[in-house]
Amino acid sequence: MRPIQEAFPLLGTPKKVFITTHHKPDGDAIGSMLGLAHYLVKLGHYVTAVSPCEAPDFLEWVPGMQNVLNYEENTQQSLDALAECDLIFCVDFNDYSRTKTLETPLANATQPKVLIDHHLMPKPYWDYGMSVPEKSSTCEMVYDFINLMDNNHLIDVDIAECLYTGVLTDTGSFRFPVTTADVHRMIANLKDHGLEHSKIHELIYDSWSETRMRFLGYVLIEKMEVFHKQKAALITLSKEDMKLFNVQSGDSEGLVNYPLSIGNIKFATLITERSDEVKLSFRSKGEFDVSTFARTYFEGGGHFNASGGRSKLSFKETITYFKKILSDIHP
Ligand code: 5GP
Ligand code: MN
Repeated sequence: MRPIQEAFPLLGTPKKVFITTHHKPDGDAIGSMLGLAHYLVKLGHYVTAVSPCEAPDFLEWVPGMQNVLNYEENTQQSLDALAECDLIFCVDFNDYSRTKTLETPLANATQPKVLIDHHLMPKPYWDYGMSVPEKSSTCEMVYDFINLMDNNHLIDVDIAECLYTGVLTDTGSFRFPVTTADVHRMIANLKDHGLEHSKIHELIYDSWSETRMRFLGYVLIEKMEVFHKQKAALITLSKEDMKLFNVQSGDSEGLVNYPLSIGNIKFATLITERSDEVKLSFRSKGEFDVSTFARTYFEGGGHFNASGGRSKLSFKETITYFKKILSDIHP
């Protein structure tokens, strides 16, 4: 992969740009895709942003969200945009398979592909890009990209709100160790460009439905097991649990983090039964590497302290398998 600076000449004249992100996009995925989209439009490019599937409701207010194509709903329009584009940007993932629905179209596309991402172990097929696992978020990297092009002055409130969203959500509200002094300097600069951070915080964290709040109570009382010896906790969510509360996409977002608020719990896991697979989310605080854990046991990956994977076993068998592994490790 060549440094992203070598892609700057490609942006010297108006281009058709296709931007996409990972399946089940989160705040950093949507924020980086749309922050970059607004910026490239300001440079005079024609941009199509495509999400591999529907974005969660808690992100529907993000500036530009109304123009994002959902690949599952607008498949042909998305494929046409991909076929016609001059340049492809991929943000917040580094392996085509993380898009699920777009894996084959992206692999077959012959236009130059630019990567902006902070996950470990990027695939070798990107033409240009930035891959920096130490970065707090892809949104921080889009900000770096804008600065590398010497265009800090082009940041406006829309761009600032998009980029703030990803930094806020990927750092656990500026809590995780990846929150460097540079991250705080970036936010100060976004505020200089008009960001109202408390408005964004409220839109993301204080906009729950009553159902979602009660669902959290149910999950913590009924669905969380704590394994003190292993300093671990497990939450399991079956399809029935989600039916019981009529859980919407996004309502289970962030559940995996709650057990880490218990003193001495270093490793938290959420196992969710989905229609097509069993999905696992892992979080840790401190020295336990959940990225390696996800890769070793659950065909997954991610970051040192936040990762995910999947299982082809049934929901019940996955829980049994997970507990067997847990009894052998010491986070
Ligand atoms: P989440 O638990 O929120 O789904 O994912 C946490 C982190 O792990 C995210 O950064 C995400 O990109 C990564 N991740 C989640 N699932 C997978 C997976 O199946 N494969 C890989 N390589 N990374 C994943
Ligand atoms: Mn991210």
